[in-house]
Amino acid sequence: MTDLPKHDDIYPDLTPDELQRLHSRIFNDSDQGILITDAHERIVSVNAAFTKITGFSRAEAIGKTTDLLRSGVHDAEFRAKVRAAMAGSGPWQGEIIGKRKNGEMFPQNVSISVVRDQSGVISHAFSIFSDISVLHEAQARIVRLANFDDLTGLPNRSHFIQLFDVALASVKRQHQVAAVMMVELERLSNISDSLGLDVADELLKQISQRFGQTLRTTDVLAKVGSDQFVVGLLSLEQREHAGIVAKKLLAAMEAPFHLRSQLVHVGLSVGIAVFPDDAQDVASLLRFADVAVNRIKAEEESGYLFYSSEMNQRAKEKWQLEGELRHALVAQQLVLYYQPKVSLRTGQIMGAEALIRWRHPTNGMVSPAKFIPVAEETGLIMDIGSWVLEEACRQIRAWLDAGLVMPAIAVNLSARQFDRLLPDRLSTVLERYQLPASCLQLEITESLLVRGADGVISIMNELVAMGLALSMDDFGTGYSSLSYLKKFPITTLKIDRAFVIGVPTDENDCAIARAIITLAKQLRQEIVAEGVETPEQMAFLRQLGCDQLQGYLFSPPVPVPDFERLVLSGARLALDP
Ligand code: C2E
Ligand code: MG
Ligand code: MG
Repeated sequence: MTDLPKHDDIYPDLTPDELQRLHSRIFNDSDQGILITDAHERIVSVNAAFTKITGFSRAEAIGKTTDLLRSGVHDAEFRAKVRAAMAGSGPWQGEIIGKRKNGEMFPQNVSISVVRDQSGVISHAFSIFSDISVLHEAQARIVRLANFDDLTGLPNRSHFIQLFDVALASVKRQHQVAAVMMVELERLSNISDSLGLDVADELLKQISQRFGQTLRTTDVLAKVGSDQFVVGLLSLEQREHAGIVAKKLLAAMEAPFHLRSQLVHVGLSVGIAVFPDDAQDVASLLRFADVAVNRIKAEEESGYLFYSSEMNQRAKEKWQLEGELRHALVAQQLVLYYQPKVSLRTGQIMGAEALIRWRHPTNGMVSPAKFIPVAEETGLIMDIGSWVLEEACRQIRAWLDAGLVMPAIAVNLSARQFDRLLPDRLSTVLERYQLPASCLQLEITESLLVRGADGVISIMNELVAMGLALSMDDFGTGYSSLSYLKKFPITTLKIDRAFVIGVPTDENDCAIARAIITLAKQLRQEIVAEGVETPEQMAFLRQLGCDQLQGYLFSPPVPVPDFERLVLSGARLALDP
């Protein structure tokens, strides 16, 4: 039995009445709910916050037991603990789910203590609680955001990994096969550019619903990127069955989507990695499925593809090459060589093509045939293309400043460089070096024409209006029909080396070369034959009426000093044997 301290010892400035009033103010104004019960567990007092949180008025609560707030969600053991605290086992603090008067459950943070009388017998118990439903909602939202895609409600990448990881354990035990499919949507960025972001969002929702309807409930569907889904297939009998599911997903995309009175078609690429053949863990399966899907996309196809280790080897080499190439740009390992084009009438140098070379510190000269495709795939071609333009213009300016009369220089453009901003980029460079557009020609490939035709024509017209001449490179290797060519403002056709090789012996090549030259003459285009190596080839092409020749017969691509020497010495192609 302890002696309670006397009032005057602890509250010297307040009279007992004043103190009483203060306590009751605090009791009533507290924003935490307070509930006091007597020794028989009947409620004897509640404060205003109690009413605000629970909905029960003072009159409704007084005389009742705390069962008034019972939600029924806690088990007997938990309730026993709370009752023990109210019976004096010691202060208790924790979370209890209560029930409001309107029936709604709410989480509360509660602390329970007892009050004992002079003789140590419990006279009352009281609980102080706060409503933490807002906190709970916030926590639930955090969990949702951390694990699910906001738009579609599907699991996200990290949640997929968790789910599939657990599932793989049982696949392993039962010696079954599983697969991870990386599903990429085509053209989604085009759709959001042209129809707006909210339409693209709506489309994604519809796509995820279609996927959901196509897949089985045991399959795990997740959204892992802005235009990427992943499907986890469990308990497959054999590897090939994943291909059947991929086909089903592709078939599900055949019907168009209805979006704001528009019909939109969406294509898919699916990359598949199989457990246990390709990898044993989810992260690697995801990575390999990604390698496979990138492989399909690089070939500009839709469809599905199984991962193979050879693919991974190639992907690794590509990543390495990309890194080195990025470095090559800043480390000034790139140079331009120049290959003359000569007239088949006079033998004189009429122009030259600038061809990029990579002086690799350990591998020596790397052919553009090896690194340009990688640069195109990775987007690095934009930087490399800008460098080529800049370097060619810098060189032309240097020749002009030195008083050297040089022929027009042709620069190769990748299809990726061919966008709305290209005319601006070109005029900026020409202006910077104070060059007339006639100094420069642009070589483009046929594949550009086959792809998006309309936009391309207007950009071409803009370039021609600036005074730039356009050549069609590698002609005959693409798919454009000859008549199609009329639509494009092209001044020069370059016959691909593939057809030059066979003349004059291969009948087929001769027929193709003859057809191309006849057509180009009708369109009044200049004709340049690429890759001419022998006097026989030269004689045949000349006789057909080809205008110019570019090839080893006259000169390979050479560095600047050698090219200057060729031009200044007035070197000519010997036309007659
Ligand atoms: P292309 O534009 O068709 O260039 C002609 C290719 O034929 C060059 O190969 C040239 O060296 C080669 N060639 C010329 N005459 C002969 C010959 O008589 N015999 C043989 N066997 N080959 C000959 P290169 O320099 O290896 O370039 C390959 C391709 O890489 C080019 O084909 C072009 O498409 C691309 N490329 C080169 N430089 C650039 C560039 O600066 N930008 C872009 N986007 N592509 C480039
Ligand atoms: Mg070229
Ligand atoms: Mg070519």
